[in-house]
Amino acid sequence: MSANAISADDFLKIMKNTLEVMEANEEYLAKLDADIGDADHGANMVRGFKLVKERLTSLENPDVGKIFNTTGMALMETVGGAAGPLYGQMFVKAGRLAKEKMEVKKRDLADMWEAGLKGVQDIGGGATPGGKTMVDVLDPAVKVLKESANNDGITLMQTLKKIREVAKESAKRTIPMLAEWGRASYLGERSKGHQDPGATSSYLILRTILDTLNGEVGVKIAKYAESDGGILEEAYL
Ligand SMILES: [Mg+2]
Repeated sequence: MSANAISADDFLKIMKNTLEVMEANEEYLAKLDADIGDADHGANMVRGFKLVKERLTSLENPDVGKIFNTTGMALMETVGGAAGPLYGQMFVKAGRLAKEKMEVKKRDLADMWEAGLKGVQDIGGGATPGGKTMVDVLDPAVKVLKESANNDGITLMQTLKKIREVAKESAKRTIPMLAEWGRASYLGERSKGHQDPGATSSYLILRTILDTLNGEVGVKIAKYAESDGGILEEAYL
C-alpha cells in the first residue's frame, strides 16, 4: 500500500485476515450472542468469511469494487440470521462506489462506508445509533472517516487508528443500552448489561483493516468480562 491509499491487493489480504479474526473470536462472539440472542453469530461469521475467501481466491482481475461486491454476496448467501443480509448490504453498497478502482483513498472510504451504513440501516428497519446494534459502531466510524476526508492534515493511517479506538469504545458503549432492534429487542430490559455481538464483529472487521496494513493479521479478544462480555484484553494473532 502507499501511505495514503488502500489497494485492491490490500483488501484481498484484509478479507482473508478477517476470516482468521472471526475464527479466533468465534467462541467470544458466540458467548455474546448467547447472552442476548441465539449464540450463532460466531459460527455464522466464520462460515461467511470462509466462502468470501474461497470466492476471492478465484476472482479474476480483482478491483476494490469487485472485491467488496464478491464479499457482500458471499455473506448474504451463507450467513444466517440478520448478520448476513446486513453485512452483505454494507459491502455491496460500499463496493458500488469503488467500481474498477485499484485503490481507494480517505475520501473514497468515507463515501463507501457512508453508503454501506445506509445499506445496513435500510435493511435493518432504519436502526439508529443507541439501539444496541452494529450501527452503534459503524455510525461513529463513518463520522471519523468523513471528518478525516475533509482534513488534509490527517493521514489515512491516523484515520484508521482513530477508527480502531472509536469503534472499540463504541462496542463497549452498547453494554448498558436497551436493544431496540432485532432478536435481542424481545428481551426488553434484560438486554441491558451485555455487549452487542454485531457491534463487536463490526469493531473487529474495522480494526482488521488497520492491522493488515500494519503487517499484522488481527486480534483475538484474549480476556473479557464474564458478566457483560466487555473487552478486557486483546492479543495479536
Ligand atoms: Mg444470532
